[in-house]
Amino acid sequence: MIAENIHIIRERMQNACTRSGRNISEVTLIGVSKTVGVPEVVLAHEAGLLQFGENKAQELRDKSRNLPTDITWHFIGTLQSNKAKYVAEAAHWVHSVDSLKLAQALQEQAERKNRALNVLFEVKTSAETTKHGLTELADVFETLDYCMNASHLHVRGLMTMAPFVDDMNIVRKSFRQLKELQMDLHHKGYPVTELSMGMTGDFEIAIEEGATMIRVGTAIFGERNYNL
Ligand SMILES: *Cc1c(COP(=O)(O)O)cnc(C)c1O
Repeated sequence: MIAENIHIIRERMQNACTRSGRNISEVTLIGVSKTVGVPEVVLAHEAGLLQFGENKAQELRDKSRNLPTDITWHFIGTLQSNKAKYVAEAAHWVHSVDSLKLAQALQEQAERKNRALNVLFEVKTSAETTKHGLTELADVFETLDYCMNASHLHVRGLMTMAPFVDDMNIVRKSFRQLKELQMDLHHKGYPVTELSMGMTGDFEIAIEEGATMIRVGTAIFGERNYNL
């Protein structure tokens, strides 16, 4: 079931790449394993998936200890500075840097654990008030410049979550906005090559708009059960 789901997603990724003249090797599939048990993650790993994403700091730390060491772990959730230590211990990538304070906490903890973290800046591309992310360009630059000079953080790119709406034109607009910001930062010399955008409901649109990392949970593991 999980192996078949991954196979189908890769076909859909390929089709989206073909439609937009891209090579599928430019797009990394991250399996979002939040709330999913270790045995299911093992099945996905056996099916060839090597990148997984979690949105809770302790859950990421605990799972990474119980799963193969060739897995690349992505932290994709809202992170409080006091939990940066768990993420610094276990994650290879952090997609959700949304404040200077968090960036400083990650640098401090990564240095303490002698690890380097690849960081993406979460940018708010829709007006929904519940969404986290940097909104003011001034804040983006302040956090970005801090990370550029931080010894244990590597600036890699940007992340966004599209609004939860049925109108796919609105979703596409949000992805396009992130791409435009990337090009703007790229012209200013920042190494923002990665664009983390697209989930189960919108990853094909995200690929068409330039995503280099897609974060897919439900389409791989099925509906999540938060009451376990
Ligand atoms: C849960 C989650 C996903 C995956 O969502 P699906 O719709 O299940 O694919 C992607 N990104 C973030 C930040 C998430 O929290």
